[in-house]
Amino acid sequence: MLDAAFFVRWMTAAAAVIDREADRLTELDSPIGDADHGKNMQRGFTAVVKTLTAEPPATPGAVLTTAGRQLISSVGGASGPLYGTLLRRAGKVLGEADRVSAEELRSGLAAGVDAVGQLGGSAPGDKTMLDALVPGVTALSASFDAAAEAAGQGALATVPMQARKGRASYLGERSIGHQDPGAASSALLFAALAEVAK
Ligand code: ADP
Ligand code: MG
Repeated sequence: MLDAAFFVRWMTAAAAVIDREADRLTELDSPIGDADHGKNMQRGFTAVVKTLTAEPPATPGAVLTTAGRQLISSVGGASGPLYGTLLRRAGKVLGEADRVSAEELRSGLAAGVDAVGQLGGSAPGDKTMLDALVPGVTALSASFDAAAEAAGQGALATVPMQARKGRASYLGERSIGHQDPGAASSALLFAALAEVAK
């Protein structure tokens, strides 16, 4: 079973890997976006860790809703409200429980991913974060490692796609041949989860 401390460790590990990979995320956002995704994610997750450290929430659900709220209020780009919605919806599904199972985490994140699609009007194949989030959450029923692997493959699979949502869609066919930055950062969130689950 996973407690609130596990979820704080996940968000802290996510912030660390985003720090390490921020330049790469911004580089991915340069040919098909506005070269700010690494900075956006860094700003957001720095705010998340600061808040979680100052006042550690008592339950897994509260950790995720608090993190989601911080992302929405601190990130200016499209990714802030989208990731914020993912975590807030997942946190809401986890409710007030002190501990949750891996299966409960999977179903909470599945609801969060649905909410991202609703907010963004997007679906897998549109070359967005959903192309990593959906396979990642699906593979979570097998293991944390499988989820990290599937999300990473999902991010790579965005390279040949033409973007249909977000800034990259303005480029039409010229968006083909580049990895989606949001899919890359989603893969990092699953990598952080697999790391803390070890
Ligand atoms: P912005 O595009 O406002 O500069 P970011 O660069 O931080 O914001 O984030 C861009 C990422 O957000 C994209 O790579 C994509 O994965 C994701 N994204 C953008 N629009 C959508 C959408 N409608 N649905 C799902 N994800 C989206
Ligand atoms: Mg951007």
